[in-house]
Amino acid sequence: MMTKNTTSSNSLLKNSKRIIIKIGSALVTDMEKGTVRSEWLQTLAGDIHSLRDKEIIVVSSGAIALGRKSLGIDLLTPSKDLKIEQKQAAASIGQIKLMNAFQTAFSKAGLEISQILLNPKDTENRRTHLNARATLETLLKNNFIPVINENDTTATEEIRFGDNDKLAARVAQMMEADLLLILSTTDGLYTDNPSLNPNAQHISVIKNITEDVLNIAGEAPNGVSTGGMKSKIEASQIAVNAGTHVIITSGKPHNPLQEMLNRSQRSTLLLATDTPHNARKRWIAAHLQHKGAIQIDEGALKALKSGKSLLPIGVIGVTGVFERGDAIAIQDSHGKTFAIGLCGYHSEDTKKIKGKQSSEIEAVLGHAGRGVLVHRNDMVLMEGGKV
Ligand code: GLU
Repeated sequence: MMTKNTTSSNSLLKNSKRIIIKIGSALVTDMEKGTVRSEWLQTLAGDIHSLRDKEIIVVSSGAIALGRKSLGIDLLTPSKDLKIEQKQAAASIGQIKLMNAFQTAFSKAGLEISQILLNPKDTENRRTHLNARATLETLLKNNFIPVINENDTTATEEIRFGDNDKLAARVAQMMEADLLLILSTTDGLYTDNPSLNPNAQHISVIKNITEDVLNIAGEAPNGVSTGGMKSKIEASQIAVNAGTHVIITSGKPHNPLQEMLNRSQRSTLLLATDTPHNARKRWIAAHLQHKGAIQIDEGALKALKSGKSLLPIGVIGVTGVFERGDAIAIQDSHGKTFAIGLCGYHSEDTKKIKGKQSSEIEAVLGHAGRGVLVHRNDMVLMEGGKV
């Protein structure tokens, strides 16, 4: 997926296969008018079209900014000063406007989009995580550009992502993205606030997000945006730990991606230390507190060791009570655990389909589930192996 030792933002963008592009409210909306910056969006759609060899997921803010005017909220009132119900009502109004604008711009560029509204639990809870991941995979396979926003209208203050930087980072983690490209109004991180200190130096590469890095990143400026550099660095921490490189750059110019590729526009690159695949394995392995176990036969054991997914036909026993997406121990016929995986079925259904061919699942359960019980990407072998 990635070529090794690519350390410039430009080449990372070229070489990444799966990219999450995060767009801030201040780019997609005209803050003074409370409308979409349609021309700019059109050029972004054109840029995305020229990267069709990649899988691209967009995370866009802008719903609250676009809905405020209809509620009679002064466009200059900072987002943080609005009441939660005002923000939620504004998001409900603005999200349609946002998606209408995306649909118009992207279809003109020959691209099809889909909308996904996520809550934090959809990326963190393993059950909904498996669903959201499978949905996004299906959309990508069918050449759609998913456009994601937080499900603002139902989220309460305590269970909000709070900012789309963090949401984009969680999506990058969930989807094992190679790159998270944060398009912002500034071209990256500086040693100090460049609008207050003329000696502030631009930082082009960050290998480790240390306390010092977190300290130089300021809070959000007043205005429609929620983020600010601090939230971008915190989000970057989530992404780089998940094996995703992060680029923070200015998305202000028209054709922002071409600007980056052709003119090497300045940016800050935050490097991941591991691959997304290994990071996901670590994430699964961290769930050692499994809810149940399944025992499998010799044939399945061999298949798993050679890197295959676990099919129901290889299962000879099921113990414990677990939900879809829970971590389970995968054991040999003597009860020795050799893998941990996220199970695609809850324990009752697993018992019903054990020993059955995948093609029989629908007849047994009354609905077509997934053909595999534990996908190889959702499994970690305890003693190494190809998974
Ligand atoms: N979800 C919010 C919106 O669409 C934005 C949150 C953010 O700016 O980070 O307006």
